[in-house]
Amino acid sequence: TFMPMAVIFSLLLIMVTNSWLKRRVSIPDQLRRAIKRHEFSVNYQPVYNITTGIVAGAEALMRWQLPNGQWARPDLFISAAEEEGMIVPLTKHLLELIAEESISWQIPPGFHLGLNITGEHIQHPDFITDIRQFAAQVAHHHLLITLELTERSLISDGPEVIEKLQLLRNEGIRISIDDFGTGHCSLSYLQTFPLDYLKIDRGFVAAIESTDDDAPVLDAIIALSHKLKLSIVGEGVETSVQLDYLKDRGVTFIQGYLYARPMASSALMTWIQHEGQQPLTSG
Ligand code: C2E
Ligand code: MG
Ligand code: MG
Ligand code: MG
Repeated sequence: TFMPMAVIFSLLLIMVTNSWLKRRVSIPDQLRRAIKRHEFSVNYQPVYNITTGIVAGAEALMRWQLPNGQWARPDLFISAAEEEGMIVPLTKHLLELIAEESISWQIPPGFHLGLNITGEHIQHPDFITDIRQFAAQVAHHHLLITLELTERSLISDGPEVIEKLQLLRNEGIRISIDDFGTGHCSLSYLQTFPLDYLKIDRGFVAAIESTDDDAPVLDAIIALSHKLKLSIVGEGVETSVQLDYLKDRGVTFIQGYLYARPMASSALMTWIQHEGQQPLTSG
């Protein structure tokens, strides 16, 4: 009759939906599985020192190659990892990968190595240990390790964050604000914070050649950095017009496709020995 049929039908529906739900892998599980399967790797994007005319260092950037061969977009999987509470294990994994592949590096002492670190990690009880352990593993290279923090990570929590960063800074770790100008960092905050570098977001660099009105903001950020005695890194420099503009205003470092794209560890070593020793000629 009609009633039992309806009951059977709904039961079937529940069973089907249930097994479909079970087969869907949660984001944390996907990330953990990807770590186990060695799907993550590191690319390094060189940073140019305008003053010396040679490579200053490189920034480590996370990469994820899916089993189908495609590369996941870093901005997407990293923000997903942050939202799902997975950024700390992922960053720990990245530090292990860098330490491992750095064994074969041949780099000049004082080479800058930039690491992108989030607020969640700074607040995590393992933070100091993780950074100290990494620093010890790569100590023989005499790197200048720089933690790149976004404005959001800095304002996330008060005094403990500052204390932890100060502690590491006393041990030779450098601190940089990443994507500066896109967040809500108050200017007074910049003064109280233990900082070494300010990375100007590539949006402002792009504005140099566009007609909109971001150029005065860029000039103001550069002037502020000079006042606070912070070294500036111009991000996303793609043209020699942008390079000249930043150079004329006393910016020391730049990073961007004009100089070099992110590359694997082995490619970076060859690049440092050749292109890395040649000045970027503009115009
Ligand atoms: P970011 O830290 O600001 O890194 C710079 C991004 O700009 C990189 O994108 C780089 O490939 C790209 N870029 C560099 N030069 C140019 C240029 O001239 N033009 C253009 N259009 N783009 C340029 P990527 O690797 O896709 O990373 C995006 C963001 O994902 C990073 O921005 C960073 O916020 C985050 N990220 C990457 N790796 C890590 C990581 O290991 N940990 C954390 N927490 N975040 C990471
Ligand atoms: Mg960065
Ligand atoms: Mg950046
Ligand atoms: Mg950026």
